[in-house]
Order: sequence, then C-alpha cells, then structure tokens
Amino acid sequence: MIPALRHWLHRRRHPVRYAQLDQLLRNQALSRKQVLEQQRRDLADIVAHASNNVPYYRENFSGLDGAAFQKLPILTKEAVASRLDDLLACDADRAQVKLGHTGGSTGKPLAFWYDETKHELMRAGMMRGFMMSGWRPGQKVMYFWGARHDTAKGGVFGGGWDDLISAEKTIAAVEYSEAKLNQWARAIQAWRPTLLYGYASAMSELARHILANRLPMPASLIGVYSTAEMLADSQRELMQQAFGCKVFNQYGCREVPNIAWECRHGHMHVFADLVHLESVEMEGEARFLVTSLTNRLMPFIRYDVGDSGRLLEGDCPCGSPFPLMEMGLCRKNDLIRTRADATFHPAYFNRLLYGMTQIRQYQWVQTEIDRLTLNLVAAAPLSAETVAGLRDHLRRDVDAEMCLEVNYLDDIPRSVSGKHRFVIGLK
Ligand SMILES: [Zn+2]
Repeated sequence: MIPALRHWLHRRRHPVRYAQLDQLLRNQALSRKQVLEQQRRDLADIVAHASNNVPYYRENFSGLDGAAFQKLPILTKEAVASRLDDLLACDADRAQVKLGHTGGSTGKPLAFWYDETKHELMRAGMMRGFMMSGWRPGQKVMYFWGARHDTAKGGVFGGGWDDLISAEKTIAAVEYSEAKLNQWARAIQAWRPTLLYGYASAMSELARHILANRLPMPASLIGVYSTAEMLADSQRELMQQAFGCKVFNQYGCREVPNIAWECRHGHMHVFADLVHLESVEMEGEARFLVTSLTNRLMPFIRYDVGDSGRLLEGDCPCGSPFPLMEMGLCRKNDLIRTRADATFHPAYFNRLLYGMTQIRQYQWVQTEIDRLTLNLVAAAPLSAETVAGLRDHLRRDVDAEMCLEVNYLDDIPRSVSGKHRFVIGLK
C-alpha cells in the first residue's frame, strides 16, 4: 500500500492522535521565546491544578508558593510507588483510567495511571520525534520491543499493530539468539521499513550480527532510534555501519514520555511543549527533574526520573525552537565508589573494553568495595595478557588492591524491564 493512502487511513482510524500531532507540529513552528512563554503558563497551570485536585500535592505543596517552582519538593520514585492512589487527580474519571507499568532502570517496576488520551498523546509525540529524521506518517516503522508485558496482546505494543494500515510492525526482542537475530535481519530485508526503533543493546546486537554475516540492509532505512538505555558511542557506530543510516537517540520514560529527541544534526531537543526539564546537582551528579506539562490525570512535578544530564545553551541549525540537552551516562546506581571515596563514572569502565571486538555483551558488577566482576558474553575468551592489562588499569586508576574476576556467560540476564545495564555499583 502506498504511504499516502496508508497515512489517510491511519488518520481516519486515530483522529485524536492526529489532532494532537497537528497541534504539536504547530508548536514546533513557534519561536523559542514563544515556546518558553507557553511553557511558563503550562507549568503554572499544572502546579495549580495539582495543588487543588491531587491529594498528594495538596498535602505536599500546602503553604508553598507555586510561583517559586524550584522550591517545590521533588517527587521520588518511592513516593510514586507508595502514594499511587493519592497521585490520581480527584476529577479523574475512574472508569476510564488504566494502570500502566514501567520497568525502570533500577529494575523495580513502578505503576502509573494513564488513559486513552494520554496514550494517544504519547504516540503523537513519538510521531513528531520520528519526523525530525525525515520520516513522514504512513512510512513504515519496525519496533524491537524488550518489555514482555508490552508486546503481549493488549499491551502497549501488542495486538492490532501489525497490519497494513498502521505501517508498524513489532518484534518481541526480549531474548536474542543468533537464530533470532537472523530472523530479525531477514524481516527488515523483506519488509523494508523506513525506521527501526529499539533498545540500544538489542539494536547493536542485531548490528553486530548483520556485519558479521554481511547481510545487506534495505536502502529504505533512513534512521535507527535508540531508546530506554544509555547509547554508547561504540554502539552508535556499529549500528550506523550495519544499517547504513543515521542513529538517533530518544529520551523519555513510560510515566513521562517524549522528554527529548535527537535531530538530524545530532542534538537532543527537549520537547518543551510537553515537559519542563531541570538539571540539578544531587549526590554529586547533575540529575534531571522532569515535569509533565500535559498530565493532569497523574501530575508528575519535579520528578526524579533517575537519569543524569545537562541543559545546553544555544540554537541548532535544524531550526527547531526546542532547547537542547545532553544525557549523562549514569543511571542512578551505576556509579562505582571506591574505598578512597572516589566515584567512577560508567564511561570509564566502558572505555576499558574499546576495541575488544570478540565481546558481544558485557556487564561490570561491583560485588565488594574492592572487587569487580566482569561478566562477558564473548565469541572467544580474552587472552591472559588482556585480562592482566585490565587489572593493571583498574589498580592504577580505581583501587591499588582491586580484584578482578572475569566470568563467561551464555547470556547476561537483563532487568525486569528488559533493559541491559553495563555497570552495576554496590547497593
Ligand atoms: Zn536540531
């Protein structure tokens, strides 16, 4: 079916989603100044709404000045988990409300409230994000989804998607063997999508398989979207080489989707009409606090999403009015702390393995303050010299007594959400 016809049919099937997309595209045509003015108004509105209509905020914002936004208390994941009912707005239509679940980088699933309108807005936001690559509605997108509950029938990415009209195909990418990777590569060759979308770990595994087996990828591909996990530069390069197109990073979470999307110039743009993003110093890192400007059902205000990064000044040649940001590499508990009370960034440990192409998956785990385990899925074991070299580096840089143990595994178990974590620190 031709994309224009598919687009027309899809628009008829999802009128709410497309009305929202049209609005989002109008917002994108505003100037930076207009976007920020609208954001200020939306922020004041959501704080007032939450203070008046949501029991949790009524209690926690009482006596505080909503205009002094940066003095409002931070919403933690613990509060979301323990006060779920109190975070639902009093005026919510309980018959329409659904409970969603998120894996979360800590592996501890969280529940959150949403409804059909929120879901459609999430999908509209994703469409606008995809359009930054040159993709247009009606062109095919293939999703590789790692969270089991999403690809099950009735889940966010399950059932009803794999048809001609939607131009979307979803592949359950929960576990992957060489045979599975081969099937996926064949599916891309046969279906000829415009975009691929999936976790960085799954997409780079697929890229490795494609390069190793010299499988040609269709010229229809214009972008590969990496989501949900830290995207390492080495993974980006591998994917670019295998798929022959640009790799785009995307940042958001299930409870607050569409926080930032990368443009063709390689910059992450904060979707400032949907969220307000702050970067504050917490526990020695620049941590993101996100506020959803659209979620009146379950407001997320100054939510500690567990990621780090910074807001950047300046404009982008792509012309988007949305401000810029950059991701930090840390997820909350992925820092390695030492006896000397130094903190090591996960990037340090990732860099140690550069060029070791026999490694397919890895995970550093700090089991004790002076003990690291390197779990590897590898085509061939590391040579004794290589392991000795790693140990020398760790002793020189991290701890003079550091013990290193290397384990070879068939597979590295992922967190509940299906995400792969590269570096796990002491609890
Ligand atoms: Zn840009």
